[in-house]
Amino acid sequence: MLLCKVLNLFFYGFVLKSDCIVVGAGIVGLAIAQRLVSQGLKVSVLHRSYDEGGMASYAAGAMLGAFGEVSIESATPYGELELAFRVEAARLYPDWIKELIEEEKEVLIRSGTFLVANAYGRNDSKNLAAIETALLNYKEPYEVVGKEDIAGYLPSRGMELQRAIFIPGENYVDATKLMALLKKRLTAHSACQFFDFLVTGLIYSDDGEVRGVEVEGGQRFEAENVILAAGVGSSALYENAPHHVKSPKLIPGKGVGIVLQTDMTFSHVIRSPNRHFACGVHLVPRSDKEVYIGATNRTASCPGTSPGASVEEVHDILHEAVHEINTNLESANILQLSAGSRPLAVDSRPVIGKTNVKGLYLATGTYRNGVLMAPLIADLIASEIRGAPIEKWAPFSPGYAERRPSAEDFKKLIHAGAEGIASFLPQPHGKLPYNRENELRDFLEVLFALALVDKASPGFTEEDLSQLENLRREAKELVSDRPMIETFAQLFYKFHQFKQLENLKKR
Ligand SMILES: Cc1cc2nc3c(=O)[nH]c(=O)nc-3n(C[C@H](O)[C@H](O)[C@H](O)COP(=O)(O)OP(=O)(O)OC[C@H]3O[C@@H](n4cnc5c(N)ncnc54)[C@H](O)[C@@H]3O)c2cc1C
Repeated sequence: MLLCKVLNLFFYGFVLKSDCIVVGAGIVGLAIAQRLVSQGLKVSVLHRSYDEGGMASYAAGAMLGAFGEVSIESATPYGELELAFRVEAARLYPDWIKELIEEEKEVLIRSGTFLVANAYGRNDSKNLAAIETALLNYKEPYEVVGKEDIAGYLPSRGMELQRAIFIPGENYVDATKLMALLKKRLTAHSACQFFDFLVTGLIYSDDGEVRGVEVEGGQRFEAENVILAAGVGSSALYENAPHHVKSPKLIPGKGVGIVLQTDMTFSHVIRSPNRHFACGVHLVPRSDKEVYIGATNRTASCPGTSPGASVEEVHDILHEAVHEINTNLESANILQLSAGSRPLAVDSRPVIGKTNVKGLYLATGTYRNGVLMAPLIADLIASEIRGAPIEKWAPFSPGYAERRPSAEDFKKLIHAGAEGIASFLPQPHGKLPYNRENELRDFLEVLFALALVDKASPGFTEEDLSQLENLRREAKELVSDRPMIETFAQLFYKFHQFKQLENLKKR
């Protein structure tokens, strides 16, 4: 690698100039570089190749899940806008692949996704209903199917199907092969050069415009346009920049996927709807004897966020795939474990387009859908560089004025957070008995409200605040009156009842 860097500098001199610098060679960076060279621009791609182990793009199952990603939580204006974005991206994908493949024989895009809902996934049925509504709204064909229609579907007892649909137009790819093809095309193109360097900072002109980047060792690369497509690594480059870049911070959503070798035949993707912070359990057919199963999602400061695949993550994926998709997967061989960090913006929206600092563009925040979004993002960045604004998707641009979550969302946010934890905690072994998942959700929701809510909290009325204050006082009195462990069981049910009463009043 060192030799490669020395050669890079020997051949290209101390300052290398191009029209555009793309930082990052994941699926997003490669798609952008490909679009830019196809428009006659000279492009330098800077990336740290030794970091492939942590790249999101190599860990991705690579479902092009425009509709499969819909959930009850995405029924917000921004959720709807992102759905429209995913649908547009999904519809342009086949042509984009055709443009890349030319004479290649390899089939890079395959079609068809089964969405299966069972009682194990706490909100599977509700999420599947939301998906069907979206499919109807977009007039996207789908059909309701039975378990016998799903090739390779054999869940274990207790994981029986409740409802399944087949979406013939929901496609999938093999991201590793797709990136290899993109790299091959770009490497062969005279207008594109790859440099294996860690980018450490941006360089500016005297009037504060971005003019290039600096890499480890202090060498400089110059260009009029710098596109940060460095996944979750983008944030470090713009957050501490001397000229303030308006954009939400990014956090890593670390995920693990597993490639298995098996003789079983799976004709299409089989997946659950999204579940508790992740994209549910899914199986993606790869080559004849290989399937991908995934995936986990661990955001900053949860256990399992250290690099690599943890026992808990692998256990979780294997448990769900074997019990919920096909019990015969127990005898499949594990070929590969991969882990990568999804770039998640703190307002949960993609971050695409030019920034307030001239010359600097961001192409990230793709979270669970970067493989799907890559070609559309590439088109949008290329348009902006040509001077055409991307009005339709302005809410995803880095400095968009309303990028913070809207005011009335805080109450819903606490509810959804508690719901997610109540759904996540009993997995992968199963359900809590009786009504305890709901009781746990209510308990957590009230605890979060007691800990986090104050006068400034959007969505909470004076009455809400005074009820919370009364509850806090009663809880404290109870504990000082009866300082014994049994009191905590009482508190658990007291908080659940408080939430139930609040729900009754709402009706
Ligand atoms: C387990 C898992 C499953 C997923 N499943 C799907 C799916 O089914 N469908 C889907 O559409 N999406 C899926 N995703 C999400 C998708 O993978 C990401 O949204 C997407 O890959 C992000 O691509 P990227 O190019 O922005 O980032 P990455 O792939 O992370 O690439 C970042 C690049 O930037 C480079 N870099 C970072 N910092 C620097 C620096 N300072 N200097 C130089 N180079 C730098 C890295 O070396 C790398 O080349 C999944 C993700 C995971 C983890």
